[in-house]
Amino acid sequence: KNIGVFHRNMSRIIAITNQKGGVGKTTTCVNLAASLAATRRKVLLVDLDPQGNATMGSGVNKHELELGGYHLLLEEIPVADIIVDAGTAGFKLLPGNSDLTAAEVQLMQLDERETRLGRRLQPVAGQYDYVLIDCPQSLGNLTINALSAVDDVFLPLQPHYLALHGLSKLLQTIDLVSKRLNDRLRLAGVMLCLYESGTRLAAEVSGDVEAFFRESTHVDTAWQDVHLFESRIRRNIRLAEAPSFEQSIFQYAAQSAGADDYRALADEVVSLYASQAEVDRDRQQIVMRQAA
Ligand code: ADP
Ligand code: MG
Repeated sequence: KNIGVFHRNMSRIIAITNQKGGVGKTTTCVNLAASLAATRRKVLLVDLDPQGNATMGSGVNKHELELGGYHLLLEEIPVADIIVDAGTAGFKLLPGNSDLTAAEVQLMQLDERETRLGRRLQPVAGQYDYVLIDCPQSLGNLTINALSAVDDVFLPLQPHYLALHGLSKLLQTIDLVSKRLNDRLRLAGVMLCLYESGTRLAAEVSGDVEAFFRESTHVDTAWQDVHLFESRIRRNIRLAEAPSFEQSIFQYAAQSAGADDYRALADEVVSLYASQAEVDRDRQQIVMRQAA
């Protein structure tokens, strides 16, 4: 089993999900993708939300798509033909729009209705360092497909007094998918978005979030060592404005606090995986020594 880890393709496949809307999923997808791309990582962003906000925010018109997530899920068109360039942000986009709602319904007719996305992405995933999937705000079948396709889940939370409300439903879903469909799945990271620094509420909720994930009663296989990102994404007006210019924060306002925060988050993501690769290597060496 450890040998598998050693030889494994090192692309990181991550779903950014939270069934609550407006917590910063799409903003994080677009700007994390752009930030990773700016440091010369190869990144594919998959827009799995029928709202198509990640598509628009990446500079691609969701109303004029020839091909998109619908074709990914329901047709056998080569995936590479569906992928486009994300404006000038330097990453690749698999665009989506409201056709995804129809795709979700039609998927239900297929045998592989929960695993179709993973099977379709598989031939191209290895060409990227990071594949990020922007999830819709529901725990419906599109999200199930995302969870069965990825290794890791990143969960954006807005520090709000109801931030943890409804979270157990998501955690149960992750747990269920990890048991039934995808044993690689884990909740890898939690980030605070729309952070109002200096407020008591933000500090309190951050403390609650930390306590929640440290508490042993929540520790199940799928979220054993969830990383609480130290970089917080502060509320910054430039981040809200950038999508209407079809730009990432690095094109729209490279000197803003929003750009600083997403740069820091991308650095933390990269070092999270670098330290994990080291742990995998150490384990591998122990296994080889024991075998010798
Ligand atoms: P979700 O994808 O979870 O629904 P979004 O990323 O679309 O959330 O964010 C919801 C709204 O908040 C959007 O209008 C977005 O532009 C805005 N927004 C997101 N993050 C920030 C931030 N850090 N500062 C200011 N506005 C933000
Ligand atoms: Mg969104």
